[in-house]
Amino acid sequence: MSDFILETKSLTKEFKGFTAVNNVNLQVQRGHIHALIGPNGAGKTTCFNLLTKFLVPTSGQILFNERDITASAPAQIARQGIIRSFQISAVFPHLTVMENVRIGLQRSLGTSFHFWKSGSTLSQLRDRAMALLAEVDLTEFADTLTVDLPYGRKRALEIATTLSMNPELMLLDEPTQGMGHEDVDRVTALIKKVSAGRTILMVEHNMSVVSGICDKISVLQRGAVLAEGNYRDVSNNPLVMEAYMGT
Ligand code: ADP
Repeated sequence: MSDFILETKSLTKEFKGFTAVNNVNLQVQRGHIHALIGPNGAGKTTCFNLLTKFLVPTSGQILFNERDITASAPAQIARQGIIRSFQISAVFPHLTVMENVRIGLQRSLGTSFHFWKSGSTLSQLRDRAMALLAEVDLTEFADTLTVDLPYGRKRALEIATTLSMNPELMLLDEPTQGMGHEDVDRVTALIKKVSAGRTILMVEHNMSVVSGICDKISVLQRGAVLAEGNYRDVSNNPLVMEAYMGT
């Protein structure tokens, strides 16, 4: 088996002649936390959208576990184990935190309404949802309406919902965006915790998060990979300093 769970080969996306992602070759190693960083407009979101098939590449290939998934539909990608963190807006705000995770579980099991409404299955799903909430330290918020969850805890719910879909590769989109120090530290520790036995690819702007937990960093600039390596390598790279850190 290849060391790489995900590879892109010359991945390219053009929008009406503008190349947003330009011949990108990513190699995400199994078990790693891998970050995509880069200035605004570098192509990070477009890359994520290509990987989850929200966008169709103009050219190039995406391999997951050595299988070419370039032509796979979004639902097939998710079934194969690539799960992007749910944006909280996609979660039902007027259901409780536990109910939202339970719905994620139900979705991933693909169980029909008639199957899961039977008492035993419902309680099994609830137990599993509670176990996931414990994993992300949200037990105390299980009965809280999602709309009332403090902002800093919403990412933990997104992560629990993502975990409920049994990911082999988790894609996290700016998981600490808009958070204060305490919440950033909590989410960083949580990402590290849930990475055990999984692979994570994340877009992240906060350098202290990236330096603390990422095994590998790919720096994008104008749609292309400018530099790659561990935090030390990329942070000492003069091209990166110039392009990204503004020094
Ligand atoms: P990042 O996430 O790194 O900030 P994006 O992937 O969002 O960058 O965008 C990369 C470039 O592609 C930007 O210049 C952006 O304006 C352009 N772009 C993104 N989506 C579209 C689109 N649907 N149509 C045209 N241009 C787009």
